[in-house]
Amino acid sequence: MELKPNQVRLMLLQVADAIIAAEPMLSQADRDLGDGDHGLGMARGMEAVKDQLEKLDPGTVEQVFVTTGTAMMSSMGGASGALFGTLFRAGGKALAGRPALDSEGLAVFLQAALDGVMKRGGAKPGDKTMIDALAPAAEEAGKVIGKPLNEALTAVATAAEAGKDASKAMVAQFGRAKTLGDACIGFPDAGACSITIILATMRDFATI
Ligand code: ADP
Ligand code: MG
Repeated sequence: MELKPNQVRLMLLQVADAIIAAEPMLSQADRDLGDGDHGLGMARGMEAVKDQLEKLDPGTVEQVFVTTGTAMMSSMGGASGALFGTLFRAGGKALAGRPALDSEGLAVFLQAALDGVMKRGGAKPGDKTMIDALAPAAEEAGKVIGKPLNEALTAVATAAEAGKDASKAMVAQFGRAKTLGDACIGFPDAGACSITIILATMRDFATI
């Protein structure tokens, strides 16, 4: 099972709607640890993604992901706009030349996305950021190369959720949550919550 460029476009439109619907939850997650703007920032970014993807007639999967990242980067601003923009742009560029998204492409996408975010933001696993959901997702994707995409996405979304849950026990080393010290223990990172929603929605799209 694999997804052609237009199916990837439809999948990311579903992701955009899921993030917009989750805005109150993402805002609360960021309020528990930071300044509370993560949900609104992500929702604004995803409205811009919808504007771009609704009018796109994609020739490649690369184009769909890069368009998504560019829309987020140019509409969200701030640290997370650059970081989520980098995630989709770096991941998308690594898919150049692929006619469709399969489980191998998913692994390539997630590893390049992780590398891009780590390079751009300087955080590493354990710092209580989106990386704590993205890194286990990328690792799992590497293990399920060759499986049908829907099965790979099921495993990857589960790994991301486990990573998001594990971030509850971490003390933040980046962003506004850094000033909280031990007070951030017990709450998951907001960006890791966004990663979990993105991958769970990709799984749901590929499963139905
Ligand atoms: P801001 O921190 O500017 O308020 P948001 O609230 O939109 O931006 O996003 C916060 C999220 O961004 C955090 O929950 C974390 O996942 C992610 N984040 C912050 N700094 C970094 C970093 N250096 N590397 C990776 N992710 C980061
Ligand atoms: Mg914030």
